[in-house]
Amino acid sequence: TDPTPLLEVTDMVVDYGRIRALHGISLRVERGELVTLLGANGAGKSTTMRALSGLLPLTTGRIVFDGQDLTRVKAHERVRLGVVQAPEGRGVFPGMSVQENLDMGCYARKFETKADYAQRLDWVFDLFPRLGERRTQLGGTMSGGEQQMLAIGRALMSRPRLLMLDEPSMGLAPMVIQQIFRIIAEINAQGTTILLVEQNAQQALTRTDRAYILETGEVTKTGTGRDLLADPAVKHAYLGVG
Ligand code: ATP
Repeated sequence: TDPTPLLEVTDMVVDYGRIRALHGISLRVERGELVTLLGANGAGKSTTMRALSGLLPLTTGRIVFDGQDLTRVKAHERVRLGVVQAPEGRGVFPGMSVQENLDMGCYARKFETKADYAQRLDWVFDLFPRLGERRTQLGGTMSGGEQQMLAIGRALMSRPRLLMLDEPSMGLAPMVIQQIFRIIAEINAQGTTILLVEQNAQQALTRTDRAYILETGEVTKTGTGRDLLADPAVKHAYLGVG
């Protein structure tokens, strides 16, 4: 097996004009891992995701994916290389059917066979049977949880090597959150490396291999999900106990 991490971020600094949002973040994701970025509102989680997707430039620092320097690689090229962020639930195309939304996930991968496409579609419908039942329904008329599933399904259609999810549990009912986290764990167990951004610490830490805690643009703590769940300071700040 390849010992280099799939993703390695070193001293990443990102600014919005004069406002420094990330003050030199370093993190890594190993092949096959499920890694979580945890943090309160404004900690810099979304900024980190956008920078990794290529939607925000780095002021300084480096992003290396599978041994290749991505720091200056354009967003669409990163998708082609397998770095794929699922849009937030509301990021589905409301006027397109479920099927059309899923097809939009394939656009970045041009040279695929019909069999390959059919296999991916089957995979997504296996993970999300509801999407299979609702192929012709318009994205905008799906429930919040279903739209989140569609957003993840769309990202999976491009067969990501690193799937990035930005707060997939946001705004969903507890039962649906459970379901989404179960499916995320399943996607990971089937071999897709995942970087997850979450505020739902309990659910995320229970399922994750490792996590990084982000506070005001800096990584303040890192460890296994289990260790962080047991950490008194983490319990106090993110789990509302102690
Ligand atoms: P949330 O969970 O609330 O989405 P977050 O951890 O994702 O929070 P970011 O959205 O990454 O946090 O924001 C990090 C910091 O950067 C915040 O202080 C925020 O105000 C600032 N910021 C985000 N977007 C912009 C922008 N377009 N212009 C200026 N500052 C911004």
